[in-house]
Amino acid sequence: MLRVLGIRVDEYDMQQSLDKIGALLSCAQPYTQQVVTINPEGVWLAHADNQLAQIVEQAAVVTADGNGILWAARKLGRPLKERVAGIELMEKLCQRAADKGWRIYLLGAKPGFAAQAAQVLETTYAGLNIVGTENGYFREREADVISAIRLAKPDLLFVALGMPFQEQWIYTHRKELGCKVAIGVGGSLDVLSGHVKRAPQLWQKLKLEWLWRLLSDLKRWRRYLVIPRFMHAVKKEAQYLQKEKA
Ligand code: UDP
Repeated sequence: MLRVLGIRVDEYDMQQSLDKIGALLSCAQPYTQQVVTINPEGVWLAHADNQLAQIVEQAAVVTADGNGILWAARKLGRPLKERVAGIELMEKLCQRAADKGWRIYLLGAKPGFAAQAAQVLETTYAGLNIVGTENGYFREREADVISAIRLAKPDLLFVALGMPFQEQWIYTHRKELGCKVAIGVGGSLDVLSGHVKRAPQLWQKLKLEWLWRLLSDLKRWRRYLVIPRFMHAVKKEAQYLQKEKA
């Protein structure tokens, strides 16, 4: 297993991630198993927050979401085959869910977004069974929201509350949610509902998706300050590992 700044990242490609999650969904689970899709910002947060690092550590699957993680893996001498982005994992899981009959619940984003995303997903993947949706601004109604999820009996819960809140929330409530697997998917419901545009393919190919996101929402600029710090720390870690080897 790869560790970036001490934080766990599984060396799975998309197919392996899907198979691993599929295996979790195909049998009973004692409580909700957590999937984390981690990007450099997430690694940086977990690196400075032991509790978050522990949450990542106990997860069933931790996928490498972001070219920054792929870059770090190369620097650390353990290159990864591909990026496993939250939104792509979500779409591919919905495709499988339509075949396998897995029950899906969407939680998060602004009021109405999850329901709109559900419509889009149900149209795209014929037969997909979305058993409930709820927006992500529910602090005063948290107990009711958890009861509604339990009652709907989903197999798979997508939680789009942003990192690290979604990871903390899934972990805190993993024994109450009554579903087999819960995955934090960040801003995916904003994109699937059509309110936020994902970077065009060319930008994605040029590994400029981060720049697209920044230009689409300049309020996010502060979040990018961690990137040079992340890169500097990874370079130092790589040098240290080299020296240890020599
Ligand atoms: N969000 C939410 N409840 C909150 C805070 C945020 O549902 O209390 C949603 C927000 O509306 C957005 C998502 O969480 O849909 C966070 O998106 P962002 O792109 O910032 O997440 P990232 O992918 O960077 O983790």
